[in-house]
Amino acid sequence: MELTNEILQQIRAAVSHAKNSEYYKARFAEIEPEDIKTAKDFNKLPFTGKEDLRAAYPLGLQAVPDEKIVRIHSSSGTTGVPVIIPYTQKDVQDWAIMFKRCYETAGITNKDRIQITPGYGLWTAGIGFQLGAELLGAMAVPMGPGNTEKQLQMMMDLKSTVITATSSYALLLAEEIAKRGIKDMIHLKKGVIGSERWGEKMRRRIAEELGVELYDIYGLTEIYGPGIGVSCKHECGMHMWTDYLYYEVVNPHTGELVPEGEIGELVITTLAKEGAPLIRYRTHDLTREKFGQCECGSPYPRIDTIIGRSDDMVKVKGTMIYPGKVDEFLSTVEGVSSEYQVIIDHLNGRDIVNLLFETPVEAEAERKALAKRVEAEFKQKIGLTPTAKAVGMGDLPRSEKKSTRIFDNRY
Ligand code: ZN
Repeated sequence: MELTNEILQQIRAAVSHAKNSEYYKARFAEIEPEDIKTAKDFNKLPFTGKEDLRAAYPLGLQAVPDEKIVRIHSSSGTTGVPVIIPYTQKDVQDWAIMFKRCYETAGITNKDRIQITPGYGLWTAGIGFQLGAELLGAMAVPMGPGNTEKQLQMMMDLKSTVITATSSYALLLAEEIAKRGIKDMIHLKKGVIGSERWGEKMRRRIAEELGVELYDIYGLTEIYGPGIGVSCKHECGMHMWTDYLYYEVVNPHTGELVPEGEIGELVITTLAKEGAPLIRYRTHDLTREKFGQCECGSPYPRIDTIIGRSDDMVKVKGTMIYPGKVDEFLSTVEGVSSEYQVIIDHLNGRDIVNLLFETPVEAEAERKALAKRVEAEFKQKIGLTPTAKAVGMGDLPRSEKKSTRIFDNRY
């Protein structure tokens, strides 16, 4: 987004404040806030990565005295040391204000009853949804995750009108409701769904089976939590609360800003955070900037729905491949299901891309013809020709967790 003089001034203040923490005192030892005069100066500041936050464990990011900290949250590292983020009272309030704005953007009011299924505790999900609901004046139903039986019971008895969930849990609930034939007893109108990457096919299924409008909410524990951006009813990306943060989209390999509108990694600088300010934090989320005024009239700029993780992005023969792009492509090919694998190998000095996809088509000749069509369309839409092979439904491995779909065997 545009770096105005006003934002530069906020950034100078944020950098100056960040230097109260042990981490930035050392990292920015050579950097004086008043030297950040132009966009170019700002773009020279080093990034902050998750590994830096881990190295600052437990409270190396804290930029205010202990007595100002009212709570901590922690992001769950899959391996090793977690990241601890301390919050002041003002940070908690700011987060609630942003979250309330998310609900309002989704057309949710104080008459709504919001059933909250993300988890409570060290991570930021459940409690963020709750803070925003209470500030809005809506009735929060703080279920937390799991226990589908009780979720459905409360959903019917309390007549919940809004469900907040991850996309996978929303799908599970939708399937249960259909299976039990209780759709008539459900009063849901809206779903606010955490911004994991989810394909269009899954979105349509959840929306249809639950009979709700869906909104994508964005956020990460390091930057408050969920609630720093949300989609509006025009479904054209997510509005970001840029009075609290400044964002950039960079090439994940070079760290340079991408050309206008291209896909890259989202990098966020907090403008108002007291407890643990972050300067140029790499989110590893892939998205692109959206330009122009949204039809909803919101003054807040937009990024696209999250397309994937930069860790999942691979470069083959100069072409970027990432799961979101392949999902999107396959959803347009008739006869192809949503499950697939891309396997990249290096053979005889060349990179080879193999694409396995599931199909309900059974006749061998038809499968071959379908694979040829996938190859040609892949070339056209993604930019290189894979070797495609059709397999039967259920032939590719499934996993409970997020399944890996792109395997890079070159290194
Ligand atoms: Zn809008």
